[in-house]
Amino acid sequence: MTQQNNLLGQNHIWMPFFAAIKQGRIAHAYLVQGPSGSTYMDVLRAMAKALLCQEVLGGFCDLCKVCLRVEHGTYADFHVIVPEAGKITLDKVRGVLDMAYQYPMEGSRRVFLIQDPERMNIESANMLLKVLEEPPAGTFFLLGTENSAGVLPTIASRCQAFRLRPLPEQEIQSHLERELGLEPAQAMAIARLADGSLGSARALADADFVERRQQAIGLLGQLLTRADQAFAMEACKSLASECARDRESLIAFVRICLGLLRDAAVLNSGGSFENLIHGDVGTEIQSMARLRPSRFWPLKIELTLDLVRKIRANLNTELVLGNYFLALQDEE
Ligand SMILES: [Zn+2]
Repeated sequence: MTQQNNLLGQNHIWMPFFAAIKQGRIAHAYLVQGPSGSTYMDVLRAMAKALLCQEVLGGFCDLCKVCLRVEHGTYADFHVIVPEAGKITLDKVRGVLDMAYQYPMEGSRRVFLIQDPERMNIESANMLLKVLEEPPAGTFFLLGTENSAGVLPTIASRCQAFRLRPLPEQEIQSHLERELGLEPAQAMAIARLADGSLGSARALADADFVERRQQAIGLLGQLLTRADQAFAMEACKSLASECARDRESLIAFVRICLGLLRDAAVLNSGGSFENLIHGDVGTEIQSMARLRPSRFWPLKIELTLDLVRKIRANLNTELVLGNYFLALQDEE
C-alpha cells in the first residue's frame, strides 16, 4: 500500500496533521471518529507511521523499515490496544502506563493506538487520563472509535479530534479499480453500496462480490416466488450461522440485497438500466421487479434498512433474519 492509498479522501486530517509534525507542534493525543466499517484504524496506523517514519518529515514513506514494521505491528515502540471480549481492562491500561513512562527502545518516540476507548470502564479511563494529562515527552496516543459520544468527555477533551469524511462514489470506484483491479461496472456497483466508506467497499469487494450478488439475486427471487416458510427458515439459518463467524460479511450481503431492492423499485417506476446500482445484471433484476407491484418495493427497502440497524445492534441474528424473511415474503 502506498501513502497515497492510505490518505485517500481524508486530506482535512492529513494537511493539519502533517503540518503539525513539520512545525513540531504535535498534540499528544488524537481522537479519530469514523463510521462503522470505515477505515479509521487504517488512518490511525498511517498517523503512527507519520509520527515514526525516519525517512519523511510531515508524511511517511511506507517503505522504510519503521513504516513496514508499524504496518505489521512489529515495531517495539508502537503499541496497539484493542478491546478483548468487548472490554479494555484495567490491566491493559496499567500496561500502557508502565510503558509510557519508559524511554522508547528504538527511536525518540513511542505511539499507542487505542481502538474503541469507550470500552474502558471508569476506573481504567481515569488511569489513562493520568497519562493524557501529563504525557511524557515523545509519547503519543492515537484513539479511534465509531462512537465518539461514548468516549468519556474527560478523555475526549484531552485529544485533538478528527472525523473521517464520506468519500464520493467516483473516488471509491477508481480506488477499487486501481487497488483491486476490479472491472469498472463492478467497482461502480460496489461504490454505490458503500455509503462513502472505503472500508465498507473493501469488505464488499473481499466478500467475493459477484458470487455473493448472484446468491442474493437467487435468494430474493426464491423468497418472492415461493411463499414457503420452511424455505425462508432454512435460508435464515444458513445466513445466521455465517453471521456468527463474521458480522461485517453478513452486513455486506444485506447491503447487496438492499441495492437489488432499490434497483427493482427504480425499474418498477419506469427507470432504465443506467439508473441502477447493479446495471450489469439489470435483466435479472427486471424479472424480479415484475413479481410485485411498485408499492411493494419501498416498504421492503425500509424493512432492509431496519435489518441492518438490528444486526449492528447485535440483536439475536437468527430471530431478526427470520422475521425479516417472513416480512419480505408478505405481499403487503
Ligand atoms: Zn517510512
